Amino acid sequence: MSGRAAPGGRGVAAVPASGDRRRYPAPAALAFFHGPMDCGKSTLALQIDHNQARQGRCGLLLVRHDRSGPARISSRLGMSRTAIEITDELDLVELVRSRWAAGARVDYLVVDEAQFLAPAQVEALVDLVDDSHVDVYAFGITTDFRGRLFPGSQRLLELADSVEQLQVEVLCWCGRPGRLNARVVGGRVARAGDTVLVADTAAEAPVHYQVLCRAHHRAGDLGPGAPAPGQLTLG
Ligand SMILES: [Zn+2]
Repeated sequence: MSGRAAPGGRGVAAVPASGDRRRYPAPAALAFFHGPMDCGKSTLALQIDHNQARQGRCGLLLVRHDRSGPARISSRLGMSRTAIEITDELDLVELVRSRWAAGARVDYLVVDEAQFLAPAQVEALVDLVDDSHVDVYAFGITTDFRGRLFPGSQRLLELADSVEQLQVEVLCWCGRPGRLNARVVGGRVARAGDTVLVADTAAEAPVHYQVLCRAHHRAGDLGPGAPAPGQLTLG
């Protein structure tokens, strides 16, 4: 169709008829926010959920291997919300479809600890974005203790519509931006081991994680305040 002009002068062809809306819904997007530990990912995840809910949108919170126990998104600042735990078996497309079948709206998903997603689960998130127009906000740690991409983070970097590196100025002991998570075992930076080892971030724990700059991660230098390997920490 062509030639008909609206009174305002703009062609009506530019405006789809209401019946066409469903065929051209607003595009959804997959956004991936990543950074080292303690960079404020969970805080931002909860903030985004809050902002979306305030706009009247309905979403689901999902998490894998949350440090504070099962099925919560917890910020280090003390905020916490219950979430759906993502297991290896969880079919994310089926999860959303079952909510819809029950009459619930699902406009968006907030996924925390997304570095632990299987690549196929990241692809399921993409299916939800492209086929079902669900917005996805995924939050994850970039690299493991060896400085290698987690498989989930890699797939998200490959497929996300937008990627944002979070840098809430987590600093290495030397003052440089902290970029890598060191796994500290017995006072030394571990170079080998399982990709996933849920451990404490408390410096007194025998196995814990510490954010370092690239140079000190490579050098294995935990800083002057760190107990020497084998030395017991007092207190
Ligand atoms: Zn450093």
